[in-house]
Amino acid sequence: MTIRLDIVTAEHLVFSDDVDIVVAPGIDGELAILPHHAPLMTMLQPGELRVRKGGEETFMAITGGFLEVRPDRVTILADAAERAEDIDAARAEEAKRRAEARLSGKLTDADMVRAEAALRRSLIRLRVAEKRRRRRAEL
Ligand code: ATP
Repeated sequence: MTIRLDIVTAEHLVFSDDVDIVVAPGIDGELAILPHHAPLMTMLQPGELRVRKGGEETFMAITGGFLEVRPDRVTILADAAERAEDIDAARAEEAKRRAEARLSGKLTDADMVRAEAALRRSLIRLRVAEKRRRRRAEL
């Protein structure tokens, strides 16, 4: 028994496959979705998204969006989402450095919120990329 998962952004289709389980960063905490999950619509927070199919686990970074569960499918409309292998760690490091530099200066509230959000995105990308690196090292 599997459930269809489609992850789309305004730019492209990031993921589309039949999977065993989806674990997503819901706004109120981690959500585990198995086939036949009750219909649901929720916002996502920036975080890590995990998908399992057979013995294989896929890790993704997601920066927020919406998740909808229908009886046989999960649709995620993501602000941005990257598979772990597509994350450019150097770019995320640079985004982190920029956000930290901005946060160490004097900022308006709005700029502070923006810089904190950018920092959070970069940390998630680095975490997901690092997790994949470690997993591969273990194999
Ligand atoms: P940056 O400052 O490096 O652009 P950002 O957090 O502002 O990072 P987003 O606005 O979240 O970037 O995303 C813009 C686009 O770039 C999206 O398509 C996203 O998937 C992609 N993207 C952002 N950072 C990375 C990264 N480190 N590796 C791969 N793709 C990335």
